[in-house]
Amino acid sequence: MILLNPTHHTRQYPDTRSRELMLKTIEFFEQKGKQKLKADDRAFVWYSDFLEFQKREKLFATLLTPTPYGDPPDARWDTWRNCEFNEILAFYGLAYWYTWQVSILGLGPIWQSANETLKRKAAQLLRDGEVFAFGLSERLHGADIYSTEMCLTPQPDGTYRANGEKYYIGNGNIAPLVSTFGKIAGTGEYVFFTADYRNRNFDLIQNVCNSQSYVANFALRDYPITEADILSRGQAAWDAALNTVNIGKYNLGWASIGICTHAFYEAINHAANRKLYGMRVTDFPHAKQMFTDAYARLVAMKLFALRAADYFRSASAQDRRYLLYNPMVKMKVTTQGEEVINLLWDVIAAKGFEKDTYFEMAARDIRALPKLEGTVHVNLALILKFMPN
Ligand SMILES: Cc1cc2nc3c(=O)[nH]c(=O)nc-3n(C[C@H](O)[C@H](O)[C@H](O)COP(=O)(O)OP(=O)(O)OC[C@H]3O[C@@H](n4cnc5c(N)ncnc54)[C@H](O)[C@@H]3O)c2cc1C
Repeated sequence: MILLNPTHHTRQYPDTRSRELMLKTIEFFEQKGKQKLKADDRAFVWYSDFLEFQKREKLFATLLTPTPYGDPPDARWDTWRNCEFNEILAFYGLAYWYTWQVSILGLGPIWQSANETLKRKAAQLLRDGEVFAFGLSERLHGADIYSTEMCLTPQPDGTYRANGEKYYIGNGNIAPLVSTFGKIAGTGEYVFFTADYRNRNFDLIQNVCNSQSYVANFALRDYPITEADILSRGQAAWDAALNTVNIGKYNLGWASIGICTHAFYEAINHAANRKLYGMRVTDFPHAKQMFTDAYARLVAMKLFALRAADYFRSASAQDRRYLLYNPMVKMKVTTQGEEVINLLWDVIAAKGFEKDTYFEMAARDIRALPKLEGTVHVNLALILKFMPN
């Protein structure tokens, strides 16, 4: 069975803990139930139940701590099982996936840093059940991170004061370490440092989006920074920004796969139980054709993303094929996800608007994935850049 089926989850795992994590996560959402998932979505309810659950079960700690910093010993950063976790979270709702995804992004510059103290701190915070945030984007500059305005001004005592605003930063309301990208005043050198949302000089201005997720606009106003808060500088800071997105954007393909899988089940159940002119909608030839087309595309999305995972897992300084395959997952898998939803929607028509369906949420959320962490055009440009090399 290629598609995720939460009611019959019989996948093979190399260890019992991995299996337990996935099953417990499925169980959490099944217990919560579709009605409550939808009610929370409609009312933009903050998902503290999910955050409490992940803390209790040490989910992010197990899945997102690289082995040398891990405790308990089954903690490891394993792309294979992270793919599946992405898929499960998005199957139940993109907001739950988002808090996990931006934690991955926030941890990117930390695990890539040479600052061992901050890495150990991050590992402890993961064990404590905290989530993370990635402060790259700014309101005025979009994809143009050369123009970053967040600025660290050196002080006579060797410390710095951070000033500037960030925009669209997921988990910016609760992350004790917000990995923040900026420049050093005077030299313009790039820098990645960490900020804590609880500091009085951290001004949480607003949630930019209409969503259960908190997509923060925050400002640092004379926020005190010492060398201990600095993750990387110069080329290393720039590389950490780009590499984090290169790694993180791959997950968007898996979010599309999770969304499409749930929408597919809902659509085919509805169509198979709906009788028009004395026949089931699934028996109309054009409905069969659309379901077959949607299914084939969804399976192809998943097979392609699985293949890309192999290149990702075998990546090295010599083997950089992931730099071709990850943008393709980001661009092509996510746009095919839109196509799958379009096909299903043409079959179920009015049902796809109903407030109690997963589908109505899917039809909205599927559109986010081609656009965020680099648009389709930006990723196409990356593919074209890779090919001559
Ligand atoms: C819900 C949500 C959550 C987000 N979460 C985070 C987060 O946690 N942390 C974070 O740092 N950011 C986050 N972002 C920001 C997101 O990654 C931005 O969308 C991204 O920075 C691109 O900026 P932009 O969307 O403003 O597009 P712009 O950069 O304004 O792009 C405008 C147009 O220019 C094109 N373009 C830009 N650059 C190029 C290029 N080099 N080549 C070809 N075409 C190009 C684009 O394709 C696009 O069509 C989030 C955004 C949203 C909406």
